[in-house]
Amino acid sequence: MTVLAVADHRRGQLRDVSYELVTAGRELADDLGGDLHVACVSGDVDGFADDLSLDGVDTIHTVDHGEEFNHDVYLQVVEVLDAELDPTVVLMPNSVNGLDYAPAVASALDRPLVTDAVELAFEDGLVATREMYASKVETTIETDAERVAVTIRGGEWPPAEDHGDPAVEPFDLAVDESRVRSRVTGFEEVAGGDVDIGDADVLVSVGRGIEEEENIELVAELADAMGATLSASRPIVDNGWLPKNRQVGQSGKVVTPDVYIAVGISGAVQHVAGMKGSDTIVAINTDPNAPIFDIADYGIVGDLFDVVPALIEEFE
Ligand SMILES: Cc1cc2nc3c(=O)[nH]c(=O)nc-3n(C[C@H](O)[C@H](O)[C@H](O)COP(=O)(O)OP(=O)(O)OC[C@H]3O[C@@H](n4cnc5c(N)ncnc54)[C@H](O)[C@@H]3O)c2cc1C
Repeated sequence: MTVLAVADHRRGQLRDVSYELVTAGRELADDLGGDLHVACVSGDVDGFADDLSLDGVDTIHTVDHGEEFNHDVYLQVVEVLDAELDPTVVLMPNSVNGLDYAPAVASALDRPLVTDAVELAFEDGLVATREMYASKVETTIETDAERVAVTIRGGEWPPAEDHGDPAVEPFDLAVDESRVRSRVTGFEEVAGGDVDIGDADVLVSVGRGIEEEENIELVAELADAMGATLSASRPIVDNGWLPKNRQVGQSGKVVTPDVYIAVGISGAVQHVAGMKGSDTIVAINTDPNAPIFDIADYGIVGDLFDVVPALIEEFE
């Protein structure tokens, strides 16, 4: 019984979720007593295969076809790998690309599709956890189908890191071009898209406690002094004070930095959904009962207009 995980890349770079897919896939393969296969499709497949040669991966299939993501190519690759490997679970990322082809894969393979899973296990069938109602509720979905397709939410599994020695098998797929009916002609980042807060090791995040747009500069100075990246809670973005790509949370980005400093952020569930996987969480808030302190490793109960300048001085 095998698990097939499909790696994700954009603009020549593997996405973090590819390493998380390896962790999730290995856990499921262990539950099933089987192997983990990884598919690298398009782009620098040999480079991706090197990077994904990780402990726990048994075989990597490389499919060298064009540079960019193509929905119809991914669909055909997974169809053919499915026919060859008969995986119990096909794991895909709940990313922009993943959500593009995963429903087509599930439909073509006649499998139920569970999207946006945050926990997975295989008992009598696949058991998946999803968050619903703005992350206020967790649901457990038990599937009784023998074969399933799943997309996983990024940032929920630790990325696999330890080097391994999987077999790398170039997969010479003759793509049926008559079934390739879509092309990616370009990729446009939203305004300010130069920054990917998902890649940052240290994030300094600003919330409504900052009161005025011009005060954001103070928190940006702290981020600068620390060599960190500036991010924000949703009200800051909704006010137009920072661009959308800086928003952490359920409707923003899921982040997993080494250090996350929440400045004047209350810790609403929708915010916490996006940053709870951070290694070390530091909260600065005047309200000792703010929910952010429930998940913080270090808490500073104080006025950010006193605490942040002191921290800047310290870091400088
Ligand atoms: C469907 C849906 C999706 C959502 N998605 C997101 C999302 O992706 N990301 C997100 O962040 N939110 C999201 N929200 C909004 C979320 O519910 C909260 O409203 C939001 O996170 C609150 O932001 P905040 O903590 O900055 O502000 P507030 O909740 O207003 O908290 C401000 C905090 O600052 C503290 N404070 C005030 N003054 C100071 C000071 N001088 N010094 C120190 N601390 C001070 C206060 O004590 C308070 O705790 C979503 C909501 C919904 C309904």
